[in-house]
Amino acid sequence: MNTVQSGFVPLTRAEYDTLTKLLGELLQTQHAPVIIPGEAIIGIEAIAAGIAAPGRRFLNIVTGPYGTLFGEWLERGGAEVVELRVPFDEVVTAEAVEAAIASSQPQAISFVHAEVVTGGSNPAKSILELARRHELISVIDSVSAVGGEELPIDAWGADLVAIGAQKALGGPNGVSAVSVSPRGWAYIESNARAPRNSILSLLDLRPPGEGQAFRVPPSIPTLEARALIAALADTEAEGLDRVIRRHELAAESAAAGLQALGLEGWQRDASRRSTLTTTVRIGGEDRLRIGQPVGIVAPGDGELRGRLLRINHFGANASQESVEKAVRTLAGLLETDEAAALAAVRSVWEAAR
Ligand SMILES: *Cc1c(COP(=O)(O)O)cnc(C)c1O
Repeated sequence: MNTVQSGFVPLTRAEYDTLTKLLGELLQTQHAPVIIPGEAIIGIEAIAAGIAAPGRRFLNIVTGPYGTLFGEWLERGGAEVVELRVPFDEVVTAEAVEAAIASSQPQAISFVHAEVVTGGSNPAKSILELARRHELISVIDSVSAVGGEELPIDAWGADLVAIGAQKALGGPNGVSAVSVSPRGWAYIESNARAPRNSILSLLDLRPPGEGQAFRVPPSIPTLEARALIAALADTEAEGLDRVIRRHELAAESAAAGLQALGLEGWQRDASRRSTLTTTVRIGGEDRLRIGQPVGIVAPGDGELRGRLLRINHFGANASQESVEKAVRTLAGLLETDEAAALAAVRSVWEAAR
């Protein structure tokens, strides 16, 4: 008899439980997050599919390309979408969100927490306060924010939160997670359109209660899940506060370096810059129009190409060394002396020691 040997080793229940526990600790939630067997964008699309329906009105905040995409997915599900959009060199203010809630009277509100593409960061805590006050279901794309900014999900009352490990946490991108509050589950369960038997079904992937079996056993990519467990364990060992602090220092020191080089930040409000990426306004400086990334210095994506440069100082690159290297790259492009800019970067890190 021939036997076919399969190389597939499924994730054990113990590993699944470890992953769930580490994610819950990272996100400071008591509710077991859904583990998404794929990239974070699948979790975001699954949220849209689970909550969108005719008769449901959403206020979708658009401060970058992922917000546009989310709104399209909500509309595909038949929802009515009111958009609050700002130019991509800004983020929203809590005042603008409050006015938009008052005029549109939505059931739910959605936004991207930290925008790696534009280098902006929305005031998540304030927006979630407004959502709670107006009893709105809240949806956040925190894929890049997690590990770079605080995200205490239960304390902030966030209902549906997508996260990934491949940005600030330096983990894999083939497995991700969606945190769902009890209110969030009720909002999905009360939607007759919420998918079942689909890659986009959060209901199929819903974690079983203690001692219960899965409704549908999930096929989570084992190697990716183990890499995620390792990345989460590393984060826990370093301390989430320290990981976030490292990202803050990377952003502060990059800003100091840019200033010394006479360059302008792309994001207009310096207090609302993301800790993951620092974006540089190109303006009339043709020497900054690069075609390919140079280390962590990258051209803008899509419509932002030629308008900004991105310094991707996240994950392992949220370090003094990486920011110094990026500043050297920029000085090289400008054919200018790098010494003052490097000193500015160093002084930020040294002051924090
Ligand atoms: C990177 C990113 C995504 C997409 O994550 P993938 O894992 O690449 O699918 C979604 N939203 C934001 C804000 C991101 O930064």
